[in-house]
Amino acid sequence: MSLVLHVDAPRWRAHLDATVVAYEGALVPVVKGGGYGLGEDLLLAEAGRLRGRGVGQVAVGTYDEAGRALGRGGPLADLLVLEPYRAALADGYPVLDSSALVHTVSDGADLADLLGRVSAPRILLEGLTSLNRHGMPAAQVGALAAAAGSATVEGLALHLPLGTGNEAEVQSWLTAVPSIARVYVSHVTPDQLHRLRAANPGRDLRARVGTALWLGAEGALDVRAHVLDVRAVQAGDRAGYWRRRLHGGHLLVVSGGTAHGVALAAPAAAGRLRQRATVLAEAVLESAGRVRSPFLVGGRHAWFVEPPHMQVSLIELPPGTTPPRVGDPVPVRVRTTTLHADAVVLDGDDPDAGDDDPAQSFSTGA
Ligand SMILES: *Cc1c(COP(=O)(O)O)cnc(C)c1O
Repeated sequence: MSLVLHVDAPRWRAHLDATVVAYEGALVPVVKGGGYGLGEDLLLAEAGRLRGRGVGQVAVGTYDEAGRALGRGGPLADLLVLEPYRAALADGYPVLDSSALVHTVSDGADLADLLGRVSAPRILLEGLTSLNRHGMPAAQVGALAAAAGSATVEGLALHLPLGTGNEAEVQSWLTAVPSIARVYVSHVTPDQLHRLRAANPGRDLRARVGTALWLGAEGALDVRAHVLDVRAVQAGDRAGYWRRRLHGGHLLVVSGGTAHGVALAAPAAAGRLRQRATVLAEAVLESAGRVRSPFLVGGRHAWFVEPPHMQVSLIELPPGTTPPRVGDPVPVRVRTTTLHADAVVLDGDDPDAGDDDPAQSFSTGA
């Protein structure tokens, strides 16, 4: 019983390569959050393959992830840690003094603490952008860059919101902090980066990209559950932990539950009216006890009988719908970033890429 994430390997790798080209090689792959549903092992291996295409650095989200990435012993020259170094938390960091680490500093007192623990740290100074998460105002960044002690300032880090105003915001930072040549930007499109690079020939601009890189390949990723049980039921029969009343037709038990991240809805941004209408419609159905599941049977979303269990879900098919059989695959429409698949399988993997096995399987390490 398992939930498997299938990757169309040639299509996926073609997208990774095309993304590197679109960013003119100035791209830092981000491997965080368990590896965007694909797993840290696979993504670090792919980041290693992209080294052959001019991508020399990798970013992780946290010090814990940095510890794991370094523990794998791969050929990691530069490992950017996206979370800012915090003196108050540093005792808990699994790794601090590796020469591959590039720390992100967003506070002067934190830098002083880091210098007390690591003799010549490599650091990025983070600017406080309109995202308003971590960072320092431009004047403070400039002052720290000029008085960084034994630290080597390798760049300015700018994390930006999603949207269109990013180009102007990055440009204003480039103007406000002329002393730092290399600038790492997040959530900047290839076109935006191209124009910024062209307008600032003396600067070394690099994009840190996760979602658009790993999950951006149209149709390359698909999640499949399996049918584990099928039973014909009558209207009024009951099933599940909550003895929910069934509508008749067929009751199906399928692999995939809360442990896999199934039906854990990420908060809906619901920006546009249409999105908000969808959220509202789903909420109305939910209050009537009917929740659309992400499991597709016969091309349609089946209804949940009740909230998913740990590893399986109970769904029902209306009368007149031909049920699948035990063992049949069932496509699942889930957000890959919140997915913990039991296995990630690379279909159509190139045997010349270094492995004889035509379909490699990666544990997601979740
Ligand atoms: C997560 C993160 C990224 C990558 O974001 P995506 O939307 O996955 O591309 C880049 N920069 C920072 C600082 C991040 O935290």
